Amino acid sequence: MVTAVYPGSFDPATYGHLDIIKRASLSFDRVVVGVLHNSSKSPLFSVEERVNILEKATKNIPNVLIRPFDGLSVNFAREHDAQVIVRGLRAVTDFEYELQMAQTNRVLAPDVDTVFLTTSLEYAYVSSTIMKEVARYDGDLSKFAPPEIIQALQDKLQEEKSK
Ligand code: ADP
Repeated sequence: MVTAVYPGSFDPATYGHLDIIKRASLSFDRVVVGVLHNSSKSPLFSVEERVNILEKATKNIPNVLIRPFDGLSVNFAREHDAQVIVRGLRAVTDFEYELQMAQTNRVLAPDVDTVFLTTSLEYAYVSSTIMKEVARYDGDLSKFAPPEIIQALQDKLQEEKSK
């Protein structure tokens, strides 16, 4: 039984993330998506909200679990008896950082391997950061995420505005 963890900020999840989750769920027996708690990026959504959004969006995939986590991805992998860390690669710009992370993780945990899934072409430009930027200026978000996530994002931005 091969378990993979897929760690990230998912602030909020996009079609790009959901595509990687779906594809990973076909290759591995179990996929545990790790939603990073203490991101230095000061997330828009709380970790509970990000977990909730992903749980709803993946409810039809039986071998996927969504869990919050804090700290090192390799420790999260070990907690879940995972042999593999999955990461997505969009462009060369992702590569340098991802290579360094994978090498660091290999030093920290030689028993856990990193597997990269390359983005599906139609989602290559999709990122949570760009999606939030487009949402702030009322752009069309239909290519970025499913309707429920877009709604959650618009509600959140409205809530932020009225603070
Ligand atoms: P992090 O803060 O760890 O980069 P993200 O939520 O931004 O977290 O991304 C989590 C993972 O998903 C990363 O491996 C990232 O490269 C990948 N990813 C993000 N967007 C896409 C996309 N459109 N296609 C493929 N992979 C993606």
